[in-house]
Amino acid sequence: MLNVAVIGKQASSWIERLRSARPDDRFDIEGDWTDPGIVNAAVISVPNAKPLLRYPSLRFIQSLWMGVDALLSDPELDPDTALARMVDPGMPVSMAETVAAHVLWAHRHGDVYQRNQRNQVWEERHQPLAQQRTVTMLGLGELGRRCAQTLIRLGFPVVGWSRSATPIDGIHVTADLEVALSVGEIVVNLLPLTDATRGVLNLNAFRAMPVNSVLINLGRGAHVVDADLLDALDAGHVRHAVLDVFAEEPLAAGHRYWTHPHVTVTPHVAADSMPETCIPVVAENLRRFDAGEPLNHLVDRTRGY
Ligand code: NAP
Repeated sequence: MLNVAVIGKQASSWIERLRSARPDDRFDIEGDWTDPGIVNAAVISVPNAKPLLRYPSLRFIQSLWMGVDALLSDPELDPDTALARMVDPGMPVSMAETVAAHVLWAHRHGDVYQRNQRNQVWEERHQPLAQQRTVTMLGLGELGRRCAQTLIRLGFPVVGWSRSATPIDGIHVTADLEVALSVGEIVVNLLPLTDATRGVLNLNAFRAMPVNSVLINLGRGAHVVDADLLDALDAGHVRHAVLDVFAEEPLAAGHRYWTHPHVTVTPHVAADSMPETCIPVVAENLRRFDAGEPLNHLVDRTRGY
């Protein structure tokens, strides 16, 4: 039997489902443990390690989030406690819907017509077919791969950038960032945030993108050098940016992104963890932990994501 602390914004709405999925384990919300010393596992939706410090016997952390960069960069995170990230069947589907919506909107000049409407401008744009518009996908992991496949089904040629450039059917994959950026009129970022990818969307990257291109950032805010993006938008080199993630969230009142005519802001909602698809993944990992079997989706701390 495991003693599992459930911590974070999803705790109260998920706890009954967790109890149903693993009836022999004890699940309680963070502060409800009168004896925190007996807690040996945690299911969390928090970006830092502070709430975990009160459980000295903690040996396994299951995150409900796919991106665990903030937790990994917290020096208070115990390096010996196993950490698994969420990889469930629902989130890639949800992310692919978001990517398809934004890419089609940009492809059909949605941003241009929205601005023109505000200015009462009637101006028809030449509309190419999807097959004539290349999309660049930065990151071809669980999310990027699925999104790329959805775009291919819609007819878009896709060029992908990953470290290993592992071949994927139907996608031209390269490890050369400049090459990847130079061909995509729409660039979708789904990289993990690591030391190597922080600030990757900077002046050089925007210069490499074709004039009039669109950036869709769904990875992390710190992938973007904000001042460089604003310069590229003001100069008209990047036509529009759809931003779901920000260096500081919520986005500060008065930030230029809120009112910039070439920016669309969404509040970190591109894909969320849903209990229907995540609970079976959590339950299986708790079973494995209890049985001493290898855990699924363990975060490789040496790799940084
Ligand atoms: P993943 O499975 O870990 O895949 C990461 C991909 O990025 C791999 O293709 C990897 O290539 C590539 N990569 C890593 N470091 C690289 C580098 N330095 N240079 C080039 N390519 C690099 O990640 P995922 O599950 O798809 O998730 C991606 C990110 O999406 C998460 O980390 C999170 O930040 C974000 N996310 C956002 C939302 C939202 O609502 N906005 C929701 C969920 C997740 P190799 O395999 O070749 O190393």
